[in-house]
Amino acid sequence: MFVTHLESTIDGTRFDADRVWTVHQGRPLWVRYDLAAVKNAVKPSDFGSRVNSLWRYQELLPLPKGVEPVTLGEGMSPLLACPRLGKALGLSRLYIKDESQLPTGSFKSRGMAAAVSMAKHLGLKRLAVPTAGNAGGALAAYGARAGMEVFIFMPDDTPFINQLEAYLCGAKVFLVNGLINDCGKIVREGTDKLGWFDMSTLKEPYRLEGKKTMGLEIAEQFAWKLPDVILYPTGGGTGLIGMWKAFHELQTLDWLKAPKLPRLVSCQSDGCAPIVRAFEKGERFAALFPNANTVASGLRVPMAVGDFMMLDAIKASGGCAIAGREETIVPWMRRAASLEGIAICPETAVCFDALEKLICDGRIGRDEEIVVFNTGAAQKYIEAVKLELPRIDKNQTVDYDKLVHV
Ligand SMILES: *Cc1c(COP(=O)(O)O)cnc(C)c1O
Repeated sequence: MFVTHLESTIDGTRFDADRVWTVHQGRPLWVRYDLAAVKNAVKPSDFGSRVNSLWRYQELLPLPKGVEPVTLGEGMSPLLACPRLGKALGLSRLYIKDESQLPTGSFKSRGMAAAVSMAKHLGLKRLAVPTAGNAGGALAAYGARAGMEVFIFMPDDTPFINQLEAYLCGAKVFLVNGLINDCGKIVREGTDKLGWFDMSTLKEPYRLEGKKTMGLEIAEQFAWKLPDVILYPTGGGTGLIGMWKAFHELQTLDWLKAPKLPRLVSCQSDGCAPIVRAFEKGERFAALFPNANTVASGLRVPMAVGDFMMLDAIKASGGCAIAGREETIVPWMRRAASLEGIAICPETAVCFDALEKLICDGRIGRDEEIVVFNTGAAQKYIEAVKLELPRIDKNQTVDYDKLVHV
């Protein structure tokens, strides 16, 4: 066990690590490790021969040694070079880190694997979460795997596949006529009555630790020399914040071969861009984004408790927050998949519109090493694309010459 304590993100207050905690003054907690002890226990070259999941980084994860994790084999997603897509954008070194191949088809499984493992370890039995979609699917799966009771609250227009996956995993799923913050209120107010544990983004300390492994994997996959730029679609922000935490831990461990950390680009849809607005105004906290609306359901988060953690990380990295246009989402999903065979989710499509903008105005160089995260699988978003495929009548002669012109 290398965890020393938990620490308030807002005022540094310390808390014991072996107990159940939520937030302090309404703001999240960091998990802190004895990194000198980690450095003595393991070296970067050890990881390659370990289990092919995020649990290979066990010294940098909160679950004590010897405790079995709740796992579905999450992590170690491929880092795919994208020469054809890169060429279309005029880039020489473009990569996609493809999280769509994780259990339940999104990176949310990383956070839930860590958080459900810790919840089980700490003796919790009943879990609840408000979700924009994928977090609910992931919690339902890991809750089922752990034999725990799960309650899920999602907007009534959440993608059908998210409703289905949660239902199939035996969770108690409820549709709410509102957004994720309305669902969050229902979870919060039901906590005393039903005694469930609130698994909301950043309301417990461990989902962030699971998501941190994206940063650790990138470091290992790039042979401990980080890329120049990372584009990440941000909603609640755990992905971005988690990676930034990982990079700092790696720096302290002195495992990185080059001192420079990547510039973090937080991408949102112009239909819901609270972090972009706050970034542009130079503010540390983000105001609620009114009338949030986007098919990139994971980004439909009008207000985030970790807003200042995101904005701090973006600024410290020398990156930026930028909105992609809602109307470019489906064209980019098709463009990326048809050039590279990678089925990107609407959230990631937003990153590509942002990337094109940043290349155009010179904020990203054409020879920089760039990683875009594909945070989820396109196949989960059947409502996002209206399809009109050509039909063939089996009783009529097929005009084969016409087929190539479709
Ligand atoms: C949740 C989600 C996001 C946003 O991630 P955060 O870490 O909450 O900012 C992006 N893409 C997909 C597919 C998601 O499910």
